[in-house]
Amino acid sequence: MEIQERIEFLKDEINKSNYKYYVEDNPYLSDFEYDQMFAELKELENKYPVFKTPDSPTQRVGSVSEKFFQHTHKYRLYSLDNTYNEEELKRWYERVCKEYNKELELVCELKIDGLAIALTYNEGLFALGVTRGDGVTGEEITQNLKTIKAIPLKLFEPKSLEVRGEIYMPKSSFEKLNEEALASGDKVFANPRNAASGSLRQLDSSITAKRDLSMFTYTGIFENSEDKQIKTHYDGMMYLKKLGFKVNPNIRLVKNIQGAIDYCNEWATKRFDLDYATDGVVIKVNDFAIQKDLGYTSRAPKWATAFKFPPEEVSTKLLDIELNTGKTGIITPVAILEPVQLAGSTVARASLHNFDEIRRLDIRIGDTVLVKKAAEIIPKVVKVMDTAIHKSLPEYQIPDKCPACGGPLIEKEGEVGLYCENPNCSRLMCAKIEYWVSKEAMDIDYIGPSVIQQLYDKKFISNPVDLYRLTMQDFMQLDLVKEKSASNMYTSVQNSKSRSLNRLLTALGIRHVGKETAEILAGEFGSIDALGKATLEELSTIEGIGDIIAKSIYDYFRDENNLKMLEDLKQLGLNPSSAPKAKSDILAGKTFVLTGTLQNMTRDEASSVIKSHGGKTSSSVSKKTSYVLAGENAGSKLDKAKDLGVIILTEDDFLEMIKT
Ligand code: NAD
Repeated sequence: MEIQERIEFLKDEINKSNYKYYVEDNPYLSDFEYDQMFAELKELENKYPVFKTPDSPTQRVGSVSEKFFQHTHKYRLYSLDNTYNEEELKRWYERVCKEYNKELELVCELKIDGLAIALTYNEGLFALGVTRGDGVTGEEITQNLKTIKAIPLKLFEPKSLEVRGEIYMPKSSFEKLNEEALASGDKVFANPRNAASGSLRQLDSSITAKRDLSMFTYTGIFENSEDKQIKTHYDGMMYLKKLGFKVNPNIRLVKNIQGAIDYCNEWATKRFDLDYATDGVVIKVNDFAIQKDLGYTSRAPKWATAFKFPPEEVSTKLLDIELNTGKTGIITPVAILEPVQLAGSTVARASLHNFDEIRRLDIRIGDTVLVKKAAEIIPKVVKVMDTAIHKSLPEYQIPDKCPACGGPLIEKEGEVGLYCENPNCSRLMCAKIEYWVSKEAMDIDYIGPSVIQQLYDKKFISNPVDLYRLTMQDFMQLDLVKEKSASNMYTSVQNSKSRSLNRLLTALGIRHVGKETAEILAGEFGSIDALGKATLEELSTIEGIGDIIAKSIYDYFRDENNLKMLEDLKQLGLNPSSAPKAKSDILAGKTFVLTGTLQNMTRDEASSVIKSHGGKTSSSVSKKTSYVLAGENAGSKLDKAKDLGVIILTEDDFLEMIKT
């Protein structure tokens, strides 16, 4: 493509996406793609200034909708130039410091991902609120802004001034709004920024009032003679706070660029704990006189820069939808993507949640989709981009057969998933075994999905129990497996026999029983046998176990195949037990020594009872022993207890003690 043609193409695309983003609140490009196109256009215009025109998007900011009354700003609102890494930040700092021959103090603020507004106060009263728009003209939305509680209608002092801030929607409110919109078939927003903008730019302010919006103020224009005493941005922000504006508490004054870099690094991860979206850090020269001196380009101040965090969202092509079988037989759709860089790693797969989600988003193979990775480890598809080809692609057909065994997929009442329940489905069984060896369950090293598949295909295993019957020779028959790795695999399997009860319970993959529930069950019952004997009522009275989970556990232990498997495991040496959970803490801090023969229980049973009431047992008597529980024919321990003056309990005393 010719340079001029490319420039025209970029201008066109950026203008179109500006309109979708600023006016319709419905972008069709990810911010990252937009930023890349914008940077390319800027670079080309700098290299070939003959092609730079005043109508280029690089010379302007935003867009204004004709839906609202348009207001010309008294003071122009600018955008910000971006930096993406430490080097660029340092270069920016070098540029601003060059003239002054000294390090300049900077103010670091979180870059709130919302929309900019300008508020005018007359004699302390809120008089006018306007969006940034294209920086020169904005949309007058005073009535809507009045519904936002973080915007003071009256200041603590009767000052006249203009302030700027960012309107945002908390992440939690955004999720809730989208959930409600989904339920009622209303518009779903792509991100909190679009939701904030869409909520604010309503013709009916009662709609805005219903949305949870807030504002952080990030600058003020101090023009009257008294306010002109304020010499720095930081002091200005503290002054705005005093007047009643909401200033972000994470603002920080730093001595030089290293302080700003530290701030950026610190917030690159800490920002995920905030309930509002941030897309970077804004770094501003603190001294107003120097700010004035440095001035502006056609669209951004030279005295400030935005350090952008790596993108959390990016759009890419959906190449296919893969069907994965989980340990319970649930079939989950997974997006196979054209590989793309996202938040520092290459992403080629993303979660699609379930088939309802595919239907809701109308995802079609071949679509351009928006993929998001925030604090989550697994990226997810959040939106189908509004492209021309979308409608021409065939709708996705939800499968009705298991992709592995061809058996029917079953819908379960009250659940969104589809299940394969064929006990002979190879994929289902391999998924169960993969879960069995996973870190969360039996934590067996060296046995990954491909080893499991091979063992299964060679008919060495058909369920998790078979793993414990494998010999070194079996492992050595696998592709590329030599003696050393066969030995590692074998040892790893054998070592897992000593895993705790809660791990074994997790590994069984009983529906609705994950790691946490397994821990509750292990604490409550102490052994597989005891759990297997529990009645439905007993199970459902346990805290943390609801009726559905109780029924699932109960049914599991009434299934012949499961009982056979548990028996086999026992025979192979997997029969862990754990101390049942404390029934009370009446013996907390007390140490018992048991001696002689008890009438009503064995010493082991007495020991369990002591533990279940929070006490401890020891094998020898010392001054620290709280009680010696003595049965018939007690020996030297009883004598020692008498010598040391330790309290001696009969069995009856003990039973009386634990009566609750
Ligand atoms: P910007 O959002 O990158 O930066 C400028 C804005 O930052 C200011 O106007 C202000 O609103 C905001 N801001 C937040 N916290 C601030 C603080 N503490 N101090 C000062 N300002 C603060 O620039 P922009 O011109 O509003 O928008 C450009 C960006 O918007 C692009 O980089 C892109 O990410 C996105 N965009 C995306 C699309 C799309 O199609 N996806 C289209 C247009 C724009």
